[in-house]
Amino acid sequence: MTYDPYPTKCNICGGHVSLTTTFMIYGRNYGTGLVYSCDKCGARVGTYPRLPEERKKKKPPRATGILADEYTRNLRMRAHGYFDSLWSGKRNSLKVRAHCYWTLAGILGVPEPQAHFAMMNREELKDALRTMHDHWDYMLEDASNFEQMTLGKEKK
Ligand SMILES: [Zn+2]
Repeated sequence: MTYDPYPTKCNICGGHVSLTTTFMIYGRNYGTGLVYSCDKCGARVGTYPRLPEERKKKKPPRATGILADEYTRNLRMRAHGYFDSLWSGKRNSLKVRAHCYWTLAGILGVPEPQAHFAMMNREELKDALRTMHDHWDYMLEDASNFEQMTLGKEKK
């Protein structure tokens, strides 16, 4: 799915997208306090904190991914549940995580930035879930091997 850091059109229903506050949607402030939300279907996506130069240029915040409805958000959570168990708790977990995304991208046959669940629509998420299921043993072994490799490098 094409990622637009400043979405104006909903990637689910085509409706108009507005930048609104988390308070308007959830009744409280959290994260950056700003979300992009579809006026028509209510799909939404959070935002990154603005960098100093973005603030200076009065740029709006960038979206953290593509807009998601409830169904998509549930698929995304399931995908993260599986995927995060590959790297969480490992030593050098951030390096292992980066490697696991790279491996997933390879298996899915997409460029690495597109292997992140926040960038996937429902069909892509279903495909990623099936792919992880089908390649689970390989992905587990690959993550462990990579962890060992990062540890080996540190000893030198
Ligand atoms: Zn919409």
